[in-house]
Amino acid sequence: MIVNIENGADLSKIQSELAGLGCWVGPVHISASGHRALLLKPYSAPVSAEDVRNIPGVESVLVAVSEHARMDSQMLPLTVAGVDFGTGTPVVMAGPCSVESEDQIYQAARRVAGCGAQFLRGGAYKPRTSPYSFQGHGAPGLRWLQGAATAFGLRTVTELLTPEQADLVACYADLIQIGSRNMQNMSLLRAAGQTGKPVLLKRGAAATLQEWLLAGEAALLAGAQTVLLCERGVRGFDPTTRNLLDLGTVAHLASLGLGIIVDPSHATGRRDLVLPLAQAGLAAGACGLLVETHDQPQTALSDGPQALTPHQFAQLMGSLALFGNRTRQSRSVDTEVAWGGVQ
Ligand code: PEP
Ligand code: MN
Repeated sequence: MIVNIENGADLSKIQSELAGLGCWVGPVHISASGHRALLLKPYSAPVSAEDVRNIPGVESVLVAVSEHARMDSQMLPLTVAGVDFGTGTPVVMAGPCSVESEDQIYQAARRVAGCGAQFLRGGAYKPRTSPYSFQGHGAPGLRWLQGAATAFGLRTVTELLTPEQADLVACYADLIQIGSRNMQNMSLLRAAGQTGKPVLLKRGAAATLQEWLLAGEAALLAGAQTVLLCERGVRGFDPTTRNLLDLGTVAHLASLGLGIIVDPSHATGRRDLVLPLAQAGLAAGACGLLVETHDQPQTALSDGPQALTPHQFAQLMGSLALFGNRTRQSRSVDTEVAWGGVQ
């Protein structure tokens, strides 16, 4: 917010009034003609432009408009595919990395539903790093996923890889996943958005928050019903974990009141670290989890090392009671919306 000061007005009085409102006031800018202006920095306390304009001696107030106003307006609580996010109880999306067979996904659905998950995950189209790895079963995989989910009252979340498959995937997915490798694939985002379905947008491995939010904005602009963000780790420098889970950004998004879930599976690549990072993600303010679990991880066709065993998954679900009564984070920084494109 830029606050223009009237000629002759008492600057220190205005500064102390702004401080009294809880604002973080930047240095005074004096133009060549002597006109004075103050910058109210982002991370100030919530204050409306109207409150500032009403201070005697303030000539006018300029408010920058965010480049991702649609994303900003998606405040929690949100209903995505009929499931409420941000009401205090974490939403869990769980299942294997890939849909491997009709029986495999059916057994997984039975198990995760029994533990209290709301969504069944499983890739039918897999964006594998190696072209020699299992690429997914495609359309039959989608059918098996939906059949299994329906049998146990679960919603489906599955990845869309190409614009041509958008309509097909939308028939089977309650929530369309855009994977990390495709976060900024604009034609894919447009195609996903045009289905009118909600979108789960995973963060690109090297994407800034601004890039991520703008990618979400593209899906919303194209018609996506909602965009839920998923932090799954960014590229780090140490191979001890597969990626580096950016909990600061999770906390930041939660403080803005936006819907963010955490994927501790792809973040770590190791099943022994999934539980602590799932809990850390929820403690940071995530409203849900995307977790890989497999009935027999040692035989998994993809991402076996990070798949929770049935016992570990049940343990994780049991531990969520710790987070059950958390009250929803409210947007703590109203002015941040206005500054979205400027930071
Ligand atoms: C996945 O969730 O199956 C996946 C491939 O994740 P990411 O896009 O985060 O790598
Ligand atoms: Mn995976």
